[in-house]
Amino acid sequence: MNAEIIAIGTELLMGQVVNTNASFLSRELSSLGINVYHQIVVGDNPTRLAEVIEAAEQRSDLIILSGGLGPTKDDITKQVLAEHLNKKLILDKSTMEKITMYHESRKRLMTENNRLQAMVIEESTILKNETGLAAGMFLTQNNQFYVLLPGPPSELEPMFIKEVKPLLMKKNQNETYIVSRVMRFFDIGESQLAAELDDLIEHQENPTLATYAGKHEVTLRLTANGSSEEACYLLLDNMEVSIQKRIGSYFYGYGEDNRLENVVADLLKERKLTLTAAESLTGGAFQSQLTSISGASQYFKGGIVTYSNESKKEILGVSKETIKNEGAVSAQCAIEMAQNAREMFNVDLGLSFTGVAGPDKLENQEVGTVWIGLSVKGQPTFAKEYHLGKGRENNRDRSVMSGLELIRR
Ligand code: ATP
Ligand code: MG
Repeated sequence: MNAEIIAIGTELLMGQVVNTNASFLSRELSSLGINVYHQIVVGDNPTRLAEVIEAAEQRSDLIILSGGLGPTKDDITKQVLAEHLNKKLILDKSTMEKITMYHESRKRLMTENNRLQAMVIEESTILKNETGLAAGMFLTQNNQFYVLLPGPPSELEPMFIKEVKPLLMKKNQNETYIVSRVMRFFDIGESQLAAELDDLIEHQENPTLATYAGKHEVTLRLTANGSSEEACYLLLDNMEVSIQKRIGSYFYGYGEDNRLENVVADLLKERKLTLTAAESLTGGAFQSQLTSISGASQYFKGGIVTYSNESKKEILGVSKETIKNEGAVSAQCAIEMAQNAREMFNVDLGLSFTGVAGPDKLENQEVGTVWIGLSVKGQPTFAKEYHLGKGRENNRDRSVMSGLELIRR
């Protein structure tokens, strides 16, 4: 089955709203093993919308329309599709009741437009809207499937997951199972990852492979289909072995929302380790990221930001000689920061960040030069050098991620 996404709304064409619905739907569809070959944006114009639908019918089995289901004049999606398919709009009682109740409970007057919102295309399956009023629709004609979804992502996303996905899974494969696995990689670019997996990606069939580049990390989604869940897992496991062999050193965890800080947090909890950080160029960003996870107090006791050389010496006890002879951006400074912080907070791990965020050089060192120190109780403290790049924000972000990665290893 191949799919096409039509996002409707003049605000999208004008660049006032970013078409996040298309990216959400594409991601979801690819995880179902459904290929998306076209994404279209069209304004709130009936003639042009009808043209776009007609073109989609020539090439796509599944046509998903987003937006234009609301009560206002510019919401035309179902009217245009109904006319195009030669179907009537009929009143959906349960949607009508919902709209009536909504207005009564808020003591608002209902208008004729609101009644329009309860009209649906005849013979369609109604898709419940848990977060809004407009009903979605699923219908079939001439071996083609049409899905109509409301524009607001807060309505479209849950409707797709809860109502559309189960229907598609049934239609797409009779009695076959689809299982996805998301693998996450840090410190490898999307192009390097693709190059390493070139032949696997080129010959992908089952499982399929899809890469997605996030900020400083790349995710790889493997999707397998088979006659049982076990069969899918076996296919995924086999593929994962090949992937781990090639780029396993960059791999840090599984899952859609599993960020590096979550992996580190789980690790610290599991091993019952406590942590502190002494930060210079990151200005507290590492501690902020770590404490964005609830329950962080189990492993994070507190930390310190020593931005100036004076505070490194006075508050953290970095030696005068180190600052004078080696500089603040040095292995020795990072080592003393990490070790002293660990002792100060009486914890198992002390991490430190010192470097040149930019835009200007510091101590005659290039922008992006960063030292991250790690002090582990009972072990010699060490520091690792990084050359991260040009942008200030990038250098701070990547320092934080690199610190997390250093702990994970
Ligand atoms: P409503 O009942 O809110 O009018 P609707 O189904 O008629 O919903 P639209 O009027 O097309 O949807 O869009 C409503 C809002 O939803 C837009 O102003 C925009 O903020 C958001 N939206 C619409 N389409 C998209 C899209 N493709 N991606 C992201 N957001 C969108
Ligand atoms: Mg609208």
